[in-house]
Amino acid sequence: DRLKKGLTRTRETLTAKIGTAVLGYADISDDLLDEIEEILIMADVGVSTTEKLMQEVRKGIKKKEIHTPADLKPFLENKITEILLEGGAGVRMAAVGPTVILIVGVNGAGKTTTIGKLSAFYNYYGKKVMLAAADTFRAAAIDQLEIWGKRTGAEVIKHEEGSDPAAVVFDAVKAAKARGIDILIVDTAGRLQTKTNLMSELEKINRVVGREIPGAPHETLLVLDATTGQNAVSQAKLFTQSAPVTGVVLTKLDGTAKGGVVIGIKSELSIPIKWIGVGEGIEDLRPFSAEEYSKALFD
Ligand code: GDP
Repeated sequence: DRLKKGLTRTRETLTAKIGTAVLGYADISDDLLDEIEEILIMADVGVSTTEKLMQEVRKGIKKKEIHTPADLKPFLENKITEILLEGGAGVRMAAVGPTVILIVGVNGAGKTTTIGKLSAFYNYYGKKVMLAAADTFRAAAIDQLEIWGKRTGAEVIKHEEGSDPAAVVFDAVKAAKARGIDILIVDTAGRLQTKTNLMSELEKINRVVGREIPGAPHETLLVLDATTGQNAVSQAKLFTQSAPVTGVVLTKLDGTAKGGVVIGIKSELSIPIKWIGVGEGIEDLRPFSAEEYSKALFD
């Protein structure tokens, strides 16, 4: 299927290599374990998560859960699924009124595309979607959002370039309530280089939204580019310090060999991965499923 195809390169650097490595050994040995460790690191699983996994492997060997090299692959698949499953990945919805989803992330990560895909997804399920162009920093971002709005039948609320993002959000929330909108998706600017600005901007947006709709924003989704590997993990750390991130959207998993980063993000930051992007098309967004992901990696 599509997910499995998208993960081809990650599978080649991770699971296929593990499969090949275990074939070269008749018994479990330190050399074999070193080789497995190296493979996990190279697949961007992350150093601390790799250590955690290797500890589990050593425990498994002691407890006689792992008898032969061939046992290593299914053992790792199960442990990785466990890491990915922790915490669950359901999307929070409003009890009544519009569900507000804030989208954060650095420019180029795939924010606008993800918003377009989310808009299409909810539209498909019969939800009334509205988009708020609160990335007022880039005129191109506003234009892009308008294009996605047209393609997915969502109204776009925008102001001029350079205007106050919180003012856009204020108008959008009012309009969403007045027009019976189900899902309001808010695009924000991703200027990480000015962390304090980013923080105060997001705080202000949160205040405005929360005042108009109690409990909102219901989700703050951080969009991360999987092709940046460990860099995505550092970005995630910075963003979680600036905003109450409730989930990650990991984009560009198609064609990257760094899909192991999914495991590192989940394990090190304990933020659930909620969606993954597996292409540039409108239908190339999938709710993240830990089982499906491990299966696509290992099968
Ligand atoms: P933004 O600056 O964060 O809003 O990023 P954009 O949404 O404009 O995306 C940047 C580039 O990444 C565009 O060329 C998108 O088509 C591409 N892109 C976004 N998501 C994906 C994905 O899941 N897979 C692939 N292959 N490309 C993607």
